[in-house]
Amino acid sequence: MIKTSGLCYQYLGEQPIYFPDFSCSPREKLLITGPSGSGKTTLLHLLAGLRLPASGDIFIREKSLRAMKPSQTDRFRGRNIGLVFQQMHFVSSLTVQENILLQQYMAGLPQDKSRADSLLASLGLLHKKQQKIRQLSQGEQQRIAIARALINKPAVVLADEPTSSLDDLNSSRVLGLLEQMAAGENAALIVVTHDQRVKDFIPNHIAL
Ligand code: ADP
Ligand code: MG
Repeated sequence: MIKTSGLCYQYLGEQPIYFPDFSCSPREKLLITGPSGSGKTTLLHLLAGLRLPASGDIFIREKSLRAMKPSQTDRFRGRNIGLVFQQMHFVSSLTVQENILLQQYMAGLPQDKSRADSLLASLGLLHKKQQKIRQLSQGEQQRIAIARALINKPAVVLADEPTSSLDDLNSSRVLGLLEQMAAGENAALIVVTHDQRVKDFIPNHIAL
């Protein structure tokens, strides 16, 4: 469960950006849309504890992000928040499997290769696990990003424009998998996008 209250962010020298309150329960999906520059990526950075709001707070599994010290936030993020961002930040010289296991290592969790395998199998990519990330297509990398986001059983999965670089077929495949896998893992799913195609998948919708 994730819940926000009175969130506001201000970049230096810019007008403050105010965000509506919302909540999203386990297995629920929420779509946040808005034109370019409306604050979608900023909002996801706040939800992930990557930026501190000027005011307001975020509660994930009943824990206040504002109350945490930076080192606590990093650990909390690794264990409770799955991120699927536009820039996927893979280590391109490592294999698919190594990139996924790295996520567990960074959260201070034991490596669980069989869980990584089962996520990859659900995504139809188990046969790619020993390949380097750079050998995969954009759509495949986006699906690997889903496996990585889910590996630590997060309470919430945050996806920033997960379909913007994909064609219609890959876009609906990635959304379908994201949705199905987040629900299967009992995670809340929040997708932000300007991509109108996503509206067909997620009826629960907030506009910025
Ligand atoms: P979106 O993801 O909806 O396109 P962003 O959250 O990236 O929007 O940006 C929201 C607003 O904040 C925009 O006006 C953008 O120019 C501004 N902004 C984003 N990042 C920075 C930054 N690092 N410094 C100053 N302004 C920024
Ligand atoms: Mg953005």
